[in-house]
Amino acid sequence: MERMPQTRMVILGGGFAGLRILYRLHNALYHHADITLVDSRDYTLQKPGMPDVALVGTPVDMFRHKLQPIADRAGARFIQATAQYIDPMKQTVALSNGQQLPYDYLFITTGIVKDYDAIEGYRHFGYSVCDDIEAPRLHAALQKFKGGPIVLGAAKTEWGHSVHVPHLDIACEGPMGEVTFMLDHDLRRLNKRQKSTITLFTPGHEFLEDVGTTVHHILRERLDTRGVTVYPRKNIKAITEHSVQFSDGTELPSALTIVIPPYTGPTLIKYSGLGDDKGYVPTDYAMRHLSYPNIFAAGDVNALTLPKLGHLAIIQADISAATVIRELTNTGEVPLYKPEVFCIMYEGGSEATLILSNTMYGGKTDIALHGVSAHLMKWSFDSYYFYSHGHLPPDLVQAGLESVLGHVNIKGRNS
Ligand SMILES: Cc1cc2nc3c(=O)[nH]c(=O)nc-3n(C[C@H](O)[C@H](O)[C@H](O)COP(=O)(O)OP(=O)(O)OC[C@H]3O[C@@H](n4cnc5c(N)ncnc54)[C@H](O)[C@@H]3O)c2cc1C
Repeated sequence: MERMPQTRMVILGGGFAGLRILYRLHNALYHHADITLVDSRDYTLQKPGMPDVALVGTPVDMFRHKLQPIADRAGARFIQATAQYIDPMKQTVALSNGQQLPYDYLFITTGIVKDYDAIEGYRHFGYSVCDDIEAPRLHAALQKFKGGPIVLGAAKTEWGHSVHVPHLDIACEGPMGEVTFMLDHDLRRLNKRQKSTITLFTPGHEFLEDVGTTVHHILRERLDTRGVTVYPRKNIKAITEHSVQFSDGTELPSALTIVIPPYTGPTLIKYSGLGDDKGYVPTDYAMRHLSYPNIFAAGDVNALTLPKLGHLAIIQADISAATVIRELTNTGEVPLYKPEVFCIMYEGGSEATLILSNTMYGGKTDIALHGVSAHLMKWSFDSYYFYSHGHLPPDLVQAGLESVLGHVNIKGRNS
């Protein structure tokens, strides 16, 4: 424990992964560690709340949580600045405020960049739910929407080649399912559904390529019930005022186009030469950089993270923090990396579908649980997150999951 007071920990990015690492380090090392949290913004954004902003009209501030009080509670320093360059040899980070921040351990948790400009016409005719700029913009467009064809889908993303991960065409497709169901619910409520069609496209062979056949079957049924047409193997190229164009030369009429754009690695990583050929950070299963042992990466920015999910960000954050804590104190267990897809897709009203699957990673779990209990879990997750100002409740989710899965007969439960 002797070198601990001098151990400087720098966390770049106060999102799901960064905050989880902050809390884990604080709980285990308490005042022995000198922790600095850096973020370009003075708040953390709860992105899973963005469909609510766009579709329900929930004020965006409900999903923004100030970082200064979060850092204060964890005994950390908070610097609002953009990290511009990491020098792994000098062990410093150059910040946009001119500061050179030294570190002993660096945690890269900056997330990724959503490349809206990769889709021609997006800025004029496209909409999205991915952040706190785009979600309110979509909400405003929906207020004026009178009916017509609606086309939704995620764009194909290219990945680097530094680490071994299963093939996946789409970074994160769950929010598109959620928006599709919520939109259908809302249009019915407003008596506009009969004047509209809803078409969901996917670059994959099936919507939600990252789950197994049982979940696919259940989702197909649910989308059919809502009158949604699904087009697989469609790669979006351009959006015009009245259509969506795909790279195979086909086109769909569209009065409202909602997309998840392709993802790309952050400029910081590309510029610092710490990433793979697409700018994602390559690490081992302890989330340690393949070339620099005192650099860790967790969350969307890590090349291992597929799909790009908050659930995986938390799992990876726990592993990286536990690895460093064990290295410094020789205490605690480092969890094994067992990736899985876990999300709760809100469907409007009191309906939601909970999805838990690890088939993409060779496992046998492939569960879709539809009903009010899934909605209650989503609601309690969001409320807990909000009232604890960004402190994630995976233990609460885990407990809820176990109680729900343990007490109902789940179609598709096979492990
Ligand atoms: C609409 C939507 C809904 C979603 N719903 C779910 C869901 O229900 N369940 C789920 O598990 N996942 C969901 N996801 C995915 C989830 O939000 C992401 O996987 C998660 O946010 C990734 O966390 P992160 O910490 O890696 O990055 P982020 O949450 O993106 O946080 C990165 C932080 O780093 C900061 N930053 C970036 N660059 C710099 C820099 N150079 N210097 C300083 N700071 C920087 C940013 O300001 C940000 O605060 C959803 C995603 C979207 C878009």
